[in-house]
Amino acid sequence: MSYLADNYKRRNISFLKGKGSYLFSTDGKKYLDFLSGIAVNTLGHSNPRLIKALNTQAKKVWHVSNSFQIPEGEILAKKLAKRTFAEKVIFVNSGAEANETAIKVARRYFYSLGKPEKNRILCIKNSFHGRTLANIFASGSKKMTEGFGPKVSGFDHFKYSDIKSLKKKITQKTAAIFFETAMGESGIKVHTKKFLKEVKKICKKRDILLILDEVQCGIGRSGKFFAYEYANVKPDIVPIAKGIGGGFPIGAVLMTKKVSKCMVPGTHGSTYGGNPLAMAIGNVVMDEVFKKGFLKNVRKNSNYFLKKLNDLKKNYPRVIKEIRGIGLLIGIKVNVDLGNFINKLTNNKLLTIRAAENVVRILPPLNVKKREIDQALKILNKVCSGY
Ligand SMILES: *Cc1c(COP(=O)(O)O)cnc(C)c1O
Repeated sequence: MSYLADNYKRRNISFLKGKGSYLFSTDGKKYLDFLSGIAVNTLGHSNPRLIKALNTQAKKVWHVSNSFQIPEGEILAKKLAKRTFAEKVIFVNSGAEANETAIKVARRYFYSLGKPEKNRILCIKNSFHGRTLANIFASGSKKMTEGFGPKVSGFDHFKYSDIKSLKKKITQKTAAIFFETAMGESGIKVHTKKFLKEVKKICKKRDILLILDEVQCGIGRSGKFFAYEYANVKPDIVPIAKGIGGGFPIGAVLMTKKVSKCMVPGTHGSTYGGNPLAMAIGNVVMDEVFKKGFLKNVRKNSNYFLKKLNDLKKNYPRVIKEIRGIGLLIGIKVNVDLGNFINKLTNNKLLTIRAAENVVRILPPLNVKKREIDQALKILNKVCSGY
């Protein structure tokens, strides 16, 4: 019997150690880890630079509280600002917390302008923003909210990628439009540049903030540092998490200066948020992702992987319905039982994870090697040929 609650459906595997793109199980098996702890292990397992950063900082100071200066956080915020639209950053610990903070910022912004009634957040129906009360109601998903009433109000929903539906839902009270630039959990659905540009135009015209959730698709996962860069749109608020810590829990909200002004002392806080240990690690992840050629290599590997997956689809149309994705955020929509397909991959030592819409999510570390992609393709081919 396990004393852990049963809120997860866990595979019966545990790991002894990891190295790069590989995980070694306690029963002596070697797995190719192509889910990276759900887009978290940006630099794979046991990255020497991350280990060094952790150990070095661990010997100095772990935690002090945000009532003091935290130089490591100053440095990371500056790095993020220099490379993105952001001018101000609030550090937290997770994606859900980053999204909660983003929602608070949007509401507080209009409150601070004397428009407290402009407080509604417009989201995509059946999206994913994390598991806190506000975020599950932001998702508009029946499955995620069932049994967790009363409803957290203030969220409206439009249909995925449907500008008409979005326009219809906007009112004088809409404070922000809030969605994932490329949707992960919901089935690897990538918004078109045209859609993003159009939304930005609407936001400008109607005085609405644009919040782009880059918790999963950010930090290089899309092949650009942020997925919104492909469309060249400027958001107002961007919550991040997953990839920025490379496995250490870090979340953050990136904002323009204009928006961040409303977050005066006392409006938000987080005990652990941005502690020295987390920041020391985040700094190294940032440095690695911004090394010359790193993101270019993500795009190169992505093009190769997506092309080969599309070939695979042509060879096994009865098994594979569609290849989706951007960068190394990849989805294979299958025609067969999803759980069964993922189990078969696992049995052949390839770790992946499910997403909505019968999609297998493939999220290798961003520094994955081409030969590891080839190995994954070989396993995928083998599993497909078994149907
Ligand atoms: C994972 C995820 C979250 C939630 O992050 P947690 O760290 O699990 O709270 C929020 N939004 C998106 C897009 C995610 O992928």
